[in-house]
Amino acid sequence: MNGFSSIIAEFGHLEGADLLREMIRKSFPGRIALVSSFGAEAAVLAHMVGQIDPETPIITIDTGQLFPETIAYRDELTKTLGLTNVISSGPGEARMATLDPNNDLNVIDPEACCHFRKIEPMEKALQGFQATITGRKRLHSETRASIATLEEADWRLKINPLARWTREDLDNYFVEHNLPRHPMVEQGFLSIGCLPCTSPVQPGEDVRAGRWRGTGKTECGIHWTQNGQPMRGPSPSL
Ligand code: SF4
Repeated sequence: MNGFSSIIAEFGHLEGADLLREMIRKSFPGRIALVSSFGAEAAVLAHMVGQIDPETPIITIDTGQLFPETIAYRDELTKTLGLTNVISSGPGEARMATLDPNNDLNVIDPEACCHFRKIEPMEKALQGFQATITGRKRLHSETRASIATLEEADWRLKINPLARWTREDLDNYFVEHNLPRHPMVEQGFLSIGCLPCTSPVQPGEDVRAGRWRGTGKTECGIHWTQNGQPMRGPSPSL
């Protein structure tokens, strides 16, 4: 039995706003944060969280390699949804200059690049939080096909309120709540990460097929969990 077994057993059947309401207001008040890339589907969870408590911390990682469209979309959603606690964390100029002076680590060693640009800033930002909310969904890829709404991840509870949602569920939510789309979605970018490692998705491909295309890498590592989310090879230390 782990530390979150009773919560998983009691609330694992919930999803969407029902699950979020329970987690934010009752199970983890003041100890929970949404992790958001402000990518293609981010508006759904940001809207739900904003409706439940707009002061909920929303942690986003500025890797120094984001699309300008993503930064603009982050600012647009923050304003239109009335989010009051968006926290941007990143590697910082000095660390980027030291560890990736030629700005090519994503090609030479993408695991090391994700580690210092994403994983380290995320771990720093999550200090003190006991639960994190993510936008991971089963529809994203084969490697996410069986994720649960609640998962133990080291000493935190990882909450995936949209794990079982379909493409239709997402589209309906956007329409129902009149949410703006990330401007790159209409160009075929269905999962949007860093500029050098993201490409459009072709018809019939997985949502995340455009991420690290052709490299075999499927996850950056921030969503690795003890119970089975893949990360190619051990986390490098820089
Ligand atoms: S997604 Fe690419 S550019 Fe971004 S941190 Fe990972 S390897 Fe580096």
